Amino acid sequence: MTDTLAEYIRLFPEPIAIVNGSGEILAINDGASLFWQRHTQELIGESLALLLQQSQEQVQGWLKLCQGNAQMLAAHFPVPQPEGNHWVLEGVGVNLHDEPVILTRIVPSFSHNQQLLARQLQQLQRELARQIALVKELQQCQQALEQEKQHLQSLAEQDALTGLGNRRFFDAALNRLWQQTQAEGQALTVALIDIDDFKAYNDCCGHLAGDRVLQQVAQTLKAHLRSNDVIARYGGEEFALVLPYVSAGAALQILERMLHHVRELKIPQADTAHHRYITVSAGLCFVPAGESQSTLTEMLAIADTALYQAKKQGRDRAILLEWSQEAVPRPRCWDTSWRSPPPPLG
Ligand code: GH3
Ligand code: MG
Ligand code: MG
Repeated sequence: MTDTLAEYIRLFPEPIAIVNGSGEILAINDGASLFWQRHTQELIGESLALLLQQSQEQVQGWLKLCQGNAQMLAAHFPVPQPEGNHWVLEGVGVNLHDEPVILTRIVPSFSHNQQLLARQLQQLQRELARQIALVKELQQCQQALEQEKQHLQSLAEQDALTGLGNRRFFDAALNRLWQQTQAEGQALTVALIDIDDFKAYNDCCGHLAGDRVLQQVAQTLKAHLRSNDVIARYGGEEFALVLPYVSAGAALQILERMLHHVRELKIPQADTAHHRYITVSAGLCFVPAGESQSTLTEMLAIADTALYQAKKQGRDRAILLEWSQEAVPRPRCWDTSWRSPPPPLG
């Protein structure tokens, strides 16, 4: 029967022991083992008086009182503890068939309880610190991933040869600046720049030399941009620019300055070319402030028409056309004679 009782007390978290009439411990639960900080097996058979550091007579006297009582009977044993603790002992007699036993429960004092709580709090704080460290680690991982993503994105928007943005980058920038200037009622210019007679240069000097020219021209164009402007390699030997917040005259001046700096590189051209040195031609489409009818496709088509005119008029020049419904070229009217023929099919 004591065994059943022992099983029963094991269910409780607080320290509980079963003792016989002479105060010998018959069973004890994990709560008590934790409380005394001793192994359960070690405690069985030990005298409760010894454990409580009380005289045998005093403890046995109280146990007798408990035996005859149907209710829990508290005993205050002033047990001196290193941390100034004491606790209350509660006992109740249980009459089993053969042996009367006393169920004793240790009720830790308030200060003892506080210490237990403080220990629990420390444990919680340690756990919290661990979790915070984990969250920080996660945030760092997330940051690293974000940086990696941005790096990959910038690679995806970069032209490997010239280091300029590529067409994907340009389209996004043009879109953004178009929305911005539209919202602010400001002017915007789109420009296309094309290296003159580049095929001739490649044919005479080789493709590698051609690549170097592309790099030099790209750096020269970029060096003479304002901070608000955007430049990208549009494809092949063509570059595209967006010049926001600028008048038509100023946009043309900026482009002419660029053309001048390319000319000043003095890179010798092929004999068959129109000019002695490497030059570029530019076509600009200027959209005045407050003009909201135009579309990006139309702006690029007008810039392309202007570029075509620059080529037709002898290359190494910039031509600006202002956006208007009439200026938008109709595809079937486009004269692309200055462009290379499309590659043969198949
Ligand atoms: P135009 O003055 O009318 O523009 O004549 P062009 O010879 O420059 O024009 P065309 O379209 O006939 O030829 C363009 C040349 O640009 C042909 C092509 O091989 C060269 N090209 C395009 N991309 C590259 C590149 O990445 N590297 C080199 N080296 N050449 C390139
Ligand atoms: Mg071209
Ligand atoms: Mg060209």
